[in-house]
Amino acid sequence: MGKTNVTLSPTPRFDLLKLDQYLHVGVQFSRGCPFSCEFCDIIELYGRTPRTKTNEQVLAELDALYALGYRGHVDFVDDNLIGNKKALRKLLPDLKAWQNKKNFPFEFSTEASINLADDADLLRDLSQSNFFAVFIGIESPDTDTLVMTQKKQNTRRSLQQSIETIHRADIFVNAGFIVGFDSEKGSVAAGMVECIEDTAIPVCMVGLLYALPTTQLTKRLLSEGRLFVDDGQTQSGDQCTAGLNFETKRPRRDVLDDYRTVLRTIYAPGAYFDRVRRLGRMLKRTRGHRMIKGDLRSFVRLLFRIHSAGPGTAQQFWRMLLDCALHNPKALPYVVMTSALYLHLGPFARQVVEEIDREITNIDQGHWKIPPFRTAPVEAELELA
Ligand code: SF4
Repeated sequence: MGKTNVTLSPTPRFDLLKLDQYLHVGVQFSRGCPFSCEFCDIIELYGRTPRTKTNEQVLAELDALYALGYRGHVDFVDDNLIGNKKALRKLLPDLKAWQNKKNFPFEFSTEASINLADDADLLRDLSQSNFFAVFIGIESPDTDTLVMTQKKQNTRRSLQQSIETIHRADIFVNAGFIVGFDSEKGSVAAGMVECIEDTAIPVCMVGLLYALPTTQLTKRLLSEGRLFVDDGQTQSGDQCTAGLNFETKRPRRDVLDDYRTVLRTIYAPGAYFDRVRRLGRMLKRTRGHRMIKGDLRSFVRLLFRIHSAGPGTAQQFWRMLLDCALHNPKALPYVVMTSALYLHLGPFARQVVEEIDREITNIDQGHWKIPPFRTAPVEAELELA
């Protein structure tokens, strides 16, 4: 199948959006990723040779948003923004100049692979263009797992140092972790929690491994006779509990138990706000933050909600805030914003843990049965449906 020529993409009709009802707006510079992680469907859908729009296209999209009066958070929804570093290096000077000329109306976030930490020039240029956050797939702290899942770009490095390098460039990291790989030899919960604590990443998306259609993982599991037919889990639309659509190598109960342990531990108020506190000491932002700058009403609302967010939350929040005010007051807008995320993340983690509790009880009581296994490729079944 041919890949779309993104240099022909028209400027999106942002004027059709009710922009005041969006937390952020998405733009896209590139599609595809040069890596080959086994579980990833991006590379099957968009390919391993990243294709990029021209600088003029990207700036025209920003111009369109600016002309509509939009200000604040813009997310580059690229699969891996640094997949084509040469093209990105060409874009960033123009992006920086555009931001300068307009007095920095936008704050950018994106996704990138961890080798971003190896490129000081790129990190500096991203930061100077006002990128403030990046999502990175860490997946697992275990080298054998990373090698087996073909995420070799995450090996031969200290994850802690790489993340710290990015934090010190004033870009804070959100990360993805996965539980349920074949290579897990025993419990992975302690190692994963340690990695999350060592890297001081407050917002971690921890999920159960899911074999998506078209991926190398799905093909392997199919050939090994371990892939389930649709077990209805995908209907829930919840990426956190709809995992493990295959026969796991370790007992399923142990995988689920690890998963709930990680979630319970990292989203306890003390653990979360301590990571925010340590992040607050690292960031050295010089530019104000439009998303919350001067918005006293939002801050008061946040305080009210923090105080009714469950035992220990307010106490940990104030401890963290005082630390930031004393040691790095310029980071206050960021730690406040990251604290606001806890109002969703804390209750959501508890909800997922309750769901996993139910799944484990089902297994313990003998109610969970292995679903039938697939015999035909998912794609073939999708085409027939
Ligand atoms: S680095 Fe990310 S986008 Fe690239 S193949 Fe791996 S998971 Fe997919």
